Amino acid sequence: MAPRHSRRDILRGTLGEDRCPVMRPPGAQTGFDRLCDDCGACARACPQRIIRHAEGGGPVLDFSRGACTFCGDCARACPTGALVVEARDTWPWRAVILPSCLSRQGISCRACEDACEPRAIRFRLQTGGRAVPVLDMDLCTGCGECASACPAKAVAFERALPVSMEVSA
Ligand code: SF4
Ligand code: SF4
Ligand code: SF4
Repeated sequence: MAPRHSRRDILRGTLGEDRCPVMRPPGAQTGFDRLCDDCGACARACPQRIIRHAEGGGPVLDFSRGACTFCGDCARACPTGALVVEARDTWPWRAVILPSCLSRQGISCRACEDACEPRAIRFRLQTGGRAVPVLDMDLCTGCGECASACPAKAVAFERALPVSMEVSA
C-alpha cells in the first residue's frame, strides 16, 4: 500500500522523491529524474551556493543557505537538458508561514517582512496587540529570502501551480 504523507512532510520536503516533488532548481523539466545524471554542474554554477545534493539523489534548492535570484546560471550549466533556462519563469513554489513563526507565538519578529523585496509579507494586527505575518501569494515570487532570514525556520514552500502547469514531476 502506498505510504500516506502529512501536509507538514510535504511542506518541509522531507518525503522520498519517488512519491512527492522536491524543490529542484528553476527550469526543471518534466521527466527531470530521468534526464538528470547527478553531475553537480548546476550546484557548482550557482553564485548563491544554494543548490545541494539531495539524499534521494539530484540537486535541490536549500533556502537555509540563501535565496534564489533566478539568474539561470544553474540551467545554463546543465549538460543534459534536465534544467532549461527558458522555463525558469514557471517556478511553481510559493512561501508558506508555519505555525512555529515567532510572531504567531507572541514573540516580536519581522525578519521575513524586512527580507521580502516584493512586499508579499505584511503584518496584520490581531486583537490583543499581536501582529502576525500574512502572505500575498500573488506577490510572492518564491525567492526564499524570507526563509533564509527567518530565525525560527518557520517558512516552508508549496507548489502554487496546478499539476498540469508544473514543469517537473
Ligand atoms: S537560478 Fe541562479 S541563484 Fe537560483 S539556483 Fe539557479 S544558479 Fe542559483
Ligand atoms: S547540471 Fe543538470 S544533469 Fe547535472 S546535476 Fe544539475 S540538473 Fe542534474
Ligand atoms: S519567497 Fe520571496 S517573495 Fe515570497 S514571501 Fe518570501 S521573500 Fe517574499
